[in-house]
Amino acid sequence: MGRRTCVRVLCLPTNVDHVRGRKVQLLTDIGDRFAVIPRGHHGYPQPEDGYRSLVWRPICPNCGWHGEQVSPFEVRRGFGAAHSAFIQLNWVFDAWFVKAEVADALMTSGLTGFRPETVLDSKSRMPVESHRQLHIDVAMPCMDVSRLQAVTCRPNNEESTLPMPAGSRKPDQGDWCGRVKHHPPTTVGLYRDLRNEPDLLFADEWVGSGFNAFRVILASRRFVDFVRKQGWRGLAFRPAISGMPSERAGE
Ligand SMILES: [Zn+2]
Repeated sequence: MGRRTCVRVLCLPTNVDHVRGRKVQLLTDIGDRFAVIPRGHHGYPQPEDGYRSLVWRPICPNCGWHGEQVSPFEVRRGFGAAHSAFIQLNWVFDAWFVKAEVADALMTSGLTGFRPETVLDSKSRMPVESHRQLHIDVAMPCMDVSRLQAVTCRPNNEESTLPMPAGSRKPDQGDWCGRVKHHPPTTVGLYRDLRNEPDLLFADEWVGSGFNAFRVILASRRFVDFVRKQGWRGLAFRPAISGMPSERAGE
């Protein structure tokens, strides 16, 4: 395989064969899957103090875990960020919203793993015409979390002895679900070959901190290429590495 071309949002090394002291075949092990990082969050889900129990069922009030989506997201006064094709709402890390024309283009692209969902205006209860949620259908265990800090949903858990940012804890409420999540990785490592899987999927290992929990969204190279070719803004892509544990810088 020849040299890879450096592109704007992601620059793959061409001649490095060691990552953190371990030899890896960069040209084959890097680049089939990408963790997708939103470039910004705009607006808030409605109602701000109750959207979680409206959108998902069941939910855990303590760790942030949630079950399937059962209702559309609601927003107030539409979406901002007119130049972004992809938008995330504040507080919601595992749902994407796209312009209506972007949803249409994606649905006819041949890419797989998602479908458009209506978003409602919280006041009128009418669909928001300009945008759709891009609902991701598949969650698949695939991410190596063995080196990430675990956080169990129970009183006095692993984070009770860690320095935490102000505001990241809130009073306990309701039952503790006992589920384990891990601190979000800055480099995603995969133990499973995803080449024949849908173009978009969730890694089914929950990550987060405090009362926030979400799943990492992984995109195929085909998806990344398509988004880049369209010139759509709002997402950044970080290569996931096969056969390596996920890492979190600074931990
Ligand atoms: Zn919980």
